[in-house]
Amino acid sequence: MPTATSTPAKPLGSLRDLTTSRNAWIEIDLDALDHNVATMRSLVGPGIELIAVVKANAYGAGAEVLAPALEAAGVERFAVVWPAEALNLRAAGVTRPILVLGHAFPADAPAAIAANITLTCHSLALGHAISEAALARGTTATVHIKVDTGLHRFGVNLDQAVALAQALRSMPGLDVEGLTTHMANADEPDDSFSELQDQRFAHIAELLPWIRYRHTANSATALRRDEFRYDGVRLGLALHGIQPANTPPAGLRPILSVRARVARVSDVPPGEGVSYGLRWHPRDPARVALVPVGYGDGWRRSLGNEGHVLIAGHRCPMVGTLCMDQFIADVTALPSVSEGDEITLLGRQGDDELSATEVAAVAGTIPWDIFASLQARLPRIYHRHHEVTAVIGP
Ligand SMILES: *Cc1c(COP(=O)(O)O)cnc(C)c1O
Repeated sequence: MPTATSTPAKPLGSLRDLTTSRNAWIEIDLDALDHNVATMRSLVGPGIELIAVVKANAYGAGAEVLAPALEAAGVERFAVVWPAEALNLRAAGVTRPILVLGHAFPADAPAAIAANITLTCHSLALGHAISEAALARGTTATVHIKVDTGLHRFGVNLDQAVALAQALRSMPGLDVEGLTTHMANADEPDDSFSELQDQRFAHIAELLPWIRYRHTANSATALRRDEFRYDGVRLGLALHGIQPANTPPAGLRPILSVRARVARVSDVPPGEGVSYGLRWHPRDPARVALVPVGYGDGWRRSLGNEGHVLIAGHRCPMVGTLCMDQFIADVTALPSVSEGDEITLLGRQGDDELSATEVAAVAGTIPWDIFASLQARLPRIYHRHHEVTAVIGP
């Protein structure tokens, strides 16, 4: 069970102090987070809420620290996918509205309503359970209705949305606050399908004019399509400071870096092989560094023999098979590397940067997957102005 060793108010020391005797860690830059909130705020303009999507442990950044930091930075709402994730946000002290975007069972209703969580309601059975839970507590529960406008993943079908909304409206203790949908091609080179989805959504919205809060946009749609921002935009990747593919540059700053320290330096003679399967053979005498991070930490196995790390501001190739807990980097070009030197796996070092977009492309995946894969073994170290404000994990 990870534990917070400090509150954000009291600095714990410098990043260097906190990392000199750690094998590997994740750094989260809260100044960059504030910058991204301010940047998206000015980009979407007044009257449109920022809904911070902090599902999957805030995309690996640690929801229990990131969500309160986002609330302090002024985001109006939060969204997660599981009801349990919403309860965790309340336990972390989040006071603003929290929306569950994903599926809930009727049995989830009492705890969710007790914690003032907004569920997405897809059925009469869930509606009845929410209504009952609200009445039992003497409160009114807000719900949102998700319309399936073409993604064919979650939500209610177009021809059932109006009837469901009207039935829910008539249930006591239940306030149908929101109407929502989700775009299928938001970050595709051609996102014109969003126009058809929006037409379908707007048609349902016209039939339900009494539903006061509408939202359709994720980061890519919010960045590309000012006409689909409605009352709030659901931002995950943009708050991480990463641009989804095919979006215009917005001046965001990455918040998350992955770093490690050299665990061993050794020489490999020509003719020898390196790591499981001996799949890398230097042609000339080589020097290699051991990096104490592996797929057990969420660092993708497919990066083995393909990716790079930054050491002393140089790009060093990852060589041989990537293991559960470690991998090898070729540092032949850097004769002075020694145990304890800092390694950047993701993020900036000197003038060079390994971006989530680049690492994802090499790993054969997308930036969301790189972040969401990061495991609890890597400590999360949060900082402002290079002063550490919180540490979560080992
Ligand atoms: C994850 C998610 C988002 C956030 O997407 P980003 O591309 O990271 O901004 C928005 N809406 C829904 C329904 C989601 O599942």
